Amino acid sequence: TIRTRFAPSPTGMLHIGGVRTALFSWLYAKGRQGDFILRVEDTDRERSTDEATQVILDGMEWLGLAADEGPFYQTRRMDRYREVLAQFVRDGHAYHCYCTKEELAEMRSKQEAAKQKPRYDGTCRNRTQPREGVDPVIRFKNPLDGSVVVEDVIHGNVEFQNTELDDLIIARSDGTPTYNFCVVVDDMDMKITHVIRGDDHLNNTPRQINMLKALGAVLPVYGHVPMILGADGAKLSKRHGAVSVLQYREEGFLPVALLNYLVRLGWSHGDQEVFSLEEMQALFDIKDVNKSASAFNPDKLLWLNQQHIMRATPESLVPHLKFQLAALGIDVIDDAKLAAVAKAQQERAKTLKEMAQNSTFFFVEIKTYDEKAAKKNLTAESAPVLRSVHAKLSALSAWTAAAIHDAVNEVATTSSIGLGKVAQPIRVAVSGTSVSPPIDVTLEVLGRETTLSRIDRAIA
Ligand code: GLU
Repeated sequence: TIRTRFAPSPTGMLHIGGVRTALFSWLYAKGRQGDFILRVEDTDRERSTDEATQVILDGMEWLGLAADEGPFYQTRRMDRYREVLAQFVRDGHAYHCYCTKEELAEMRSKQEAAKQKPRYDGTCRNRTQPREGVDPVIRFKNPLDGSVVVEDVIHGNVEFQNTELDDLIIARSDGTPTYNFCVVVDDMDMKITHVIRGDDHLNNTPRQINMLKALGAVLPVYGHVPMILGADGAKLSKRHGAVSVLQYREEGFLPVALLNYLVRLGWSHGDQEVFSLEEMQALFDIKDVNKSASAFNPDKLLWLNQQHIMRATPESLVPHLKFQLAALGIDVIDDAKLAAVAKAQQERAKTLKEMAQNSTFFFVEIKTYDEKAAKKNLTAESAPVLRSVHAKLSALSAWTAAAIHDAVNEVATTSSIGLGKVAQPIRVAVSGTSVSPPIDVTLEVLGRETTLSRIDRAIA
């Protein structure tokens, strides 16, 4: 089986760059009956925070990128890393290095003076005795010659000369394993078949391959995903929307819209723009990802959000609308009513936040009328019209959009005024504003009692 992983470091907020990498890994596995593993790379204790870990977990849950295994935490696997370190030293793949800071600095300055690339010169490679008073680090014995070819499915073959790779420190002098080593042990132990990650890691890969080979592990397939840039071509930053992924939930994006947006960054399928999750799973292949960086375009994200809101079933919008209303201080438990509101509004909202803001009148009493709307529509002339509407609606036997539609039409015909001159005062009376879904649907969802009392109040 195919096994992919997402291995974020909780040192900064999970943002859309990370989410895209996670999505590619997830899609690749899910589209092939594979397993997706979540691994939190929290060995950098100084920079890792619980808050960032929580954003990863909450973000992945909100996005629906469920892990088949994990979350694993590297900090909980220290015993295993120490075990492999010891094995490495025993087998002669790694050695204790007693060189002091001063000695390493001297080595470096000599190399610089000779215009050589600074690298560890292997002094301790063949040392047999420990050195008094120095806590050693452990270094990996990188092959001295030959080359490593990273067969990357996105970038093609990338060759590195072993002479360019010096003996990497895999354990610090306090015994703690270093980053590249933990990744290697984890990818081996977790039987990862496809490593999909940001191309900022491409330079780590030859070292990791050498260590995996030394361990006798099966090499995974690598795919290094290019970065996302801001619209201005600069590295994505907060200014461009590289905010915590949860910020997109606050702003009213549907997870599928964000995922759709991200899958299209550097990947395409003909000229199709809107993809369901099922389509993404069926069509995505890591080898089709473009190797150049792509730019983040917030307008397109917004457009896709609107497309997905329009296409969604009203029921599927309920939890999202509920979340947004709660953020406005309105707690709604009537899911049927939420679905009815979502259905009435889904053609006209770019975000769920906007939908919620335009829907508060369905759930709570309107406090004030929009001034301009009221001045124009709640006038001496409209009062008798509203009175007729009130009478007609009170007399309706069935409270359905169709019946309401006929009633409103009849008032327009009998008072020989345009439909707008009837509908607009009703709209302002019940919603407080001049925009709402079609008036018949609006009133149907609002209910008879609320409708009549709001019209009463407007003509009082
Ligand atoms: N922890 C690394 C990061 O967050 C990813 C390493 C990997 O995927 O191998 O950038």
